Amino acid sequence: MPDDCIFCKIANKTIPVPPVYEDDEFFAFNDLNPQAPVHVLLVPKTHFTDILDIDDAALLGRGLKAVGAVAQALGLSTNGFRVVTNTGSYGGQSVFHLHFHLLGGRPMGWPPG
Ligand code: 5GP
Ligand code: ZN
Repeated sequence: MPDDCIFCKIANKTIPVPPVYEDDEFFAFNDLNPQAPVHVLLVPKTHFTDILDIDDAALLGRGLKAVGAVAQALGLSTNGFRVVTNTGSYGGQSVFHLHFHLLGGRPMGWPPG
């Protein structure tokens, strides 16, 4: 785990952030700069840079299932929601610890900017 990774610190509670969801492998919390009424980030507790850096497909799948469970728990399943994982420069990634954005509570535009 890189010493300077903010999401490692949040996921492993070096920096205290209220959890939206937590299990042995994942931690979810509200985005500091929300882009929708619901904007949650779900991160693996182990450091991976992005989806290209993670070989464990089962872990990746459990992460997506966890995002779905959080969406349901937050009441987003009726109207729908969006799950995003920005990757690299063109993808608009700014924190280089794998994370899923869960966005909901308003209609989403397409295509994304
Ligand atoms: P990315 O741009 O990498 O796809 O997403 C990074 C997200 O992390 C951004 O939406 C940004 O607002 C959020 N973020 C960055 N630093 C922090 C932080 O210290 N705490 C929280 N809660 N969110 C953060
Ligand atoms: Zn990290």
